[in-house]
Amino acid sequence: MSESGGANANAKKGAGELKVSKIRRGTVIDHIPAGMAPAVLRVLGIDRGVSDIVVMAMNVRSRSLGRKDIVKIENRVIDEETLQRIAIIAPEATINIVEEYQIIKKDRISLPRELHGVLKCPNRYCITNDPQEGVPTLFLCEREKPLELRCHYCEGLVRGEQVELIL
Ligand SMILES: [Zn+2]
Repeated sequence: MSESGGANANAKKGAGELKVSKIRRGTVIDHIPAGMAPAVLRVLGIDRGVSDIVVMAMNVRSRSLGRKDIVKIENRVIDEETLQRIAIIAPEATINIVEEYQIIKKDRISLPRELHGVLKCPNRYCITNDPQEGVPTLFLCEREKPLELRCHYCEGLVRGEQVELIL
């Protein structure tokens, strides 16, 4: 990590929001709920070591969220499966694709109806927790706010704070 909590160090007043140091090319994940940036980095595998430049800003002022976190990763496009994991922990996040310091594409994350192999089922008797069966988990999203997901196999319900991601 090249920088952390650096929002104030190189802050410039923009349109009412703080600007954190720019990346030339890569992905900016914005509007992460405050305090969740480390979890997003974990989902991205960044705690397992990558050579790309990562900028993490925490507790940045935001009009829509009050406080938010931002994660910027140079030279990286995030695949769909990773986006689904991020959607679970940061449902309000936006994904900005940057080329030559400019945002060329902006997308809201959306939680898919079905999550394949993304979450662990908390029910230890669920078939997906039997290593001999080798059944990948499948959860159906029943509610987004608050988050409620149902296991397709044992029909157990998992609420937002109980979610355990498979990383
Ligand atoms: Zn289950």
